[in-house]
Amino acid sequence: MEKKSKSTEGGTSKRKRSPHKVHENACHACGTVMHASTAAKPVHINGETVLVRGIPHFRCPNCDETLTLAQDLQVLWDRGASLYRDRHGLLDADDIRAIRTRHRLTQAQLAKLLGLGTNTLSRWEAGRNVQTTAMDVLLRLVRDVPGNLAYLRRHRA
Ligand SMILES: [Zn+2]
Repeated sequence: MEKKSKSTEGGTSKRKRSPHKVHENACHACGTVMHASTAAKPVHINGETVLVRGIPHFRCPNCDETLTLAQDLQVLWDRGASLYRDRHGLLDADDIRAIRTRHRLTQAQLAKLLGLGTNTLSRWEAGRNVQTTAMDVLLRLVRDVPGNLAYLRRHRA
């Protein structure tokens, strides 16, 4: 029954405001309280742009400034990485870790065999980066073709 007025006429001046406390969702540009919303946002992976829909953010109704919380930026990355893997048919983080652990290799050992930096492999396994299509092919060759790891051990160890 008691419905909040949607009128913006004089809306801000009627709102009770404390001069000492900035509202936690206040726009940093103009001070207006921002509204929770969702939007499609881009994420850049290996030089490609992936658009992720439905990312929560706050938007200022006055000046269109937006704010995305750190946790939602993480969601943006995770969903973007997943879309990118689907788009290119790539192994996921667990697949990559499984290749390494099946052969009882440390990250440093497998990274050396593949000619990668240890950090690169560790970031793939943590889902913080995504391998390129070319590196995905190399990982699959190690996983699926017997003898390839032995070959790398002979020639790269
Ligand atoms: Zn604003």
